Amino acid sequence: MTLAPLRLKKGEDRRLRSGHPWVFSNEINVQETPLGGFEAGQQVVIEDAKGIALGVAYVNPRTLICARLVSRNPKAALDHALLRERIQSALALRERLFALHYYRLVYGDSDRLPGLVVDRFNDTLVVQITTAGMELVKEHIVEVLTELLRPKVIVLRNDSASREVEGLASYVSTPVGDAPDTITVEENGARFEAPLLTGQKTGWFYDHRQNRARMQTYVAGKKVLDMFSYVGGWGVQAAVAGAAQVVCVDSSDKALGYARSNAALNNKASQFTTRSADAFDALHALAQEKQKFDVIILDPPAFIKRKKDHAAGIEAYQRLNRLAMQVLCDDGILISASCSFHLTADELLRATLRASRSSHKELQILEQGHQAADHPVHPAIPETAYLKTFFGRVQNAD
Ligand code: SAH
Repeated sequence: MTLAPLRLKKGEDRRLRSGHPWVFSNEINVQETPLGGFEAGQQVVIEDAKGIALGVAYVNPRTLICARLVSRNPKAALDHALLRERIQSALALRERLFALHYYRLVYGDSDRLPGLVVDRFNDTLVVQITTAGMELVKEHIVEVLTELLRPKVIVLRNDSASREVEGLASYVSTPVGDAPDTITVEENGARFEAPLLTGQKTGWFYDHRQNRARMQTYVAGKKVLDMFSYVGGWGVQAAVAGAAQVVCVDSSDKALGYARSNAALNNKASQFTTRSADAFDALHALAQEKQKFDVIILDPPAFIKRKKDHAAGIEAYQRLNRLAMQVLCDDGILISASCSFHLTADELLRATLRASRSSHKELQILEQGHQAADHPVHPAIPETAYLKTFFGRVQNAD
């Protein structure tokens, strides 16, 4: 198969040559290869200004990122064979990392599969496709996953907001098996059930696995507050690690219902309560009730979804951390996370520092946590290193 060329302007091959896999629409020599001449998802050979082939990419003429490299071999194509090689390689990494089959199996660009995410819940696979190029090969993706893993169920959770930009419809389908209502997860010695088709993202957030494991070292005998708890990923693990009392707060009653049944599933129901409220309101109310916690976990949804939300987002992180410090005991542990890729670790740290100053507290950073190794970082794409978590000790100032 011969693929059509997509020609870059002079000098615009630099980013690709230094390891980044994306091409932006303003980098194309549109006189020679007009973007309008390509179909969404079509595969092309990327060429530098001199016509030297740099690799194979798929195109979307509607998006700012107009091409994503899938191979540096200009003779390759994103077909069954290449998908099999890439997914096999992703699987080999996870098999080295984890004994149990609960992990993010494919993490997009970092696994050299731009636009594809797969979470594995033992014999249930949840797939998210976010680009037109991946959408065109989805039958191959399902076939390869079936060949490699023989799963009972494959769900395509193709309903993320980012698909609209790519011109893709939003849908959820089950090409293999029958989707159960819930999935089961095992993590750090605790068991969970989470809603599959109606849950957040793929149903579970694997990215905090290591941070939740580290959290367990701080909670024995303590009173723990898990803010934005979802189905209790942090809170239930705190209870399993010996917390005396755990309170989970979320605005979703449904998520809290799962959190309570997950506490029960791990025989920790008696130490466990939930509170259905907006997080900011709940922290105000807890302060008024003069409640105090030894350990507080702040794992909110991304407050900064677009660059233009940056300033307001930083303010929200700062306010959240300040409110949490008001209900934290003297010499308490604050675990403050952010999954906004527009927020750097340093910005989160400074927001937390400002929160401590305005509440007259001293802050020590004990550890910094990252996303787990089943979410590898692509060193050229800062957006792939989106998760940061600070473990801080907070004391009353002199
Ligand atoms: N900490 C969770 C993941 C958080 S997902 C885990 O480890 O699995 C974000 C959660 O925040 C969702 O459950 C959502 O219902 C909740 N949420 C979003 N906005 C909220 C708000 N303003 N107040 C309370 N909860 C909120």
